[in-house]
Amino acid sequence: MPTMKAEVDVDFEVWCDECGNGLCGITNVDGNSIHVGPCEKCLEEAKQEGHDEGYNEGYDEAKEES
Ligand SMILES: [Zn+2]
Repeated sequence: MPTMKAEVDVDFEVWCDECGNGLCGITNVDGNSIHVGPCEKCLEEAKQEGHDEGYNEGYDEAKEES
């Protein structure tokens, strides 16, 4: 079967599946690759969670030592 390559313009939108944030502003199309940056909102939340976890871990460690 012969194969034909065709370039088409496709309009699409990118949304964060986690929080529904629009990610079009941080999406870059490079040839047939699509690069989507990390959702800033989720990144911020993950950072906050990591901070809390680190805090609790440090607290447990300090408790075990005493
Ligand atoms: Zn998100």
